[in-house]
Amino acid sequence: MISTSLMPRESPSPAHICPFDQACSYLEEAARELKLDQGILEVLSNPRKVVTVSIPVKRDSGEVQVLAGHRVQHCDILGPYKGGIRYHPAVTLQEVSALAMLMTWKCALVGIPYGGAKGGIAIDPKRYSVGELERITRRYTSELIKDIGPSVDIPAPDMGTSAREMAWIMDTYSVNVGHAVPGVVTGKPLSIGGSLGREMATGRGVMIVVREALADMGKSLVGTRVVIQGFGNVGSAAALLLHQAGAKVIAISTGTGGVFSEVGLDIPALKAYAAENHKSIVGFPQATSISHDQLLTLPCDVLIPAALENQITEENVSQVQAQIIAEGANGPVTLEANQALEARGVTVLPDILANAGGVVVSYLEWVQGLSYVFWDEERVNREMEKLMVQAYRQVIQQSKVRQIPLRLAAYTLGVGRVGQALTDRGLYP
Ligand code: GLU
Repeated sequence: MISTSLMPRESPSPAHICPFDQACSYLEEAARELKLDQGILEVLSNPRKVVTVSIPVKRDSGEVQVLAGHRVQHCDILGPYKGGIRYHPAVTLQEVSALAMLMTWKCALVGIPYGGAKGGIAIDPKRYSVGELERITRRYTSELIKDIGPSVDIPAPDMGTSAREMAWIMDTYSVNVGHAVPGVVTGKPLSIGGSLGREMATGRGVMIVVREALADMGKSLVGTRVVIQGFGNVGSAAALLLHQAGAKVIAISTGTGGVFSEVGLDIPALKAYAAENHKSIVGFPQATSISHDQLLTLPCDVLIPAALENQITEENVSQVQAQIIAEGANGPVTLEANQALEARGVTVLPDILANAGGVVVSYLEWVQGLSYVFWDEERVNREMEKLMVQAYRQVIQQSKVRQIPLRLAAYTLGVGRVGQALTDRGLYP
């Protein structure tokens, strides 16, 4: 294992997988395949900057609570840092660091000029009022004011955050610098320079790579049986687009429970039901109930884990029946489970490819903002589709040429491009 200077490692425990160690393992595997220079590997194994700030927040009750907010900037060799901000109780510095590294490979893989970053606060946003969330977001932004910016580091939504939080970040940043700076965030509302198509972008990217993978097997989306874990931004958009393309989405779950229908769920009706029931899909008519875990082992053609990390593990991997797994979430398959799936010949479309649609449209949003020219949704979707299909093709090609699984192929492309840029730029001083 490579030594990392900025990263505090968690004490090893068999029950707990340190996400940063897992991310480093994938990097090291790619480095071995590429015969990457040891010094370059050493550089890429370390985040360039790790920031943790205190966020004192006055709760509505008057009580003062101090939260820790992280922002990890992994690598800016190819351009500004880019990555989401996550509000979730399971956020740790290790997780944020792993996700920042993943963003570096993701951006390089799809060919957009960014480096990887990620931010996070360990809160359950459901337990905070809108006013409290606004105060938290604004204070977090002001603490990071020197570390973010349209050519420095550009946050975006991630789990637990949305366009609403991006608007607060944009406003806080703009007020502090004295003029409007829409380019400091992406995934923001349309009213302040957001892009058409951004909301659905990650789900659309998932649909595109699944469609391409099926086409390579001589199949189409029509009638394909799909199971989706998660009905948030990614899961719900992927479900709707797959449903519209003729796939049969037979099961979907959220943390509170899931629903199953042999004939396929009516996704527009399910979305409307969730909207009326505080995002819960439990009790949706004409479907039977199923748990978040049971869902992973249903017989189906395509399984899309689009919720949390480490969902397909050594324990349940032998029961997973899908032929294609498309990682809508970041890191939903553990290292061991991934090896087992690869050995069985299951097509695993890795996160850095499958869920890259979001950051691709973030890039298109940033480009539109910088050029002051805004595109219609059709153009956004077309440009995004081009980048996604190109990345998919390159991964398949790399996998064939090097005789390696898709995840390693995707990593070698991402890591290889960043490694090349680092070699060309050289080290300062
Ligand atoms: N949070 C998303 C991701 O993990 C999007 C990041 C972005 O658009 O910058 O890819």
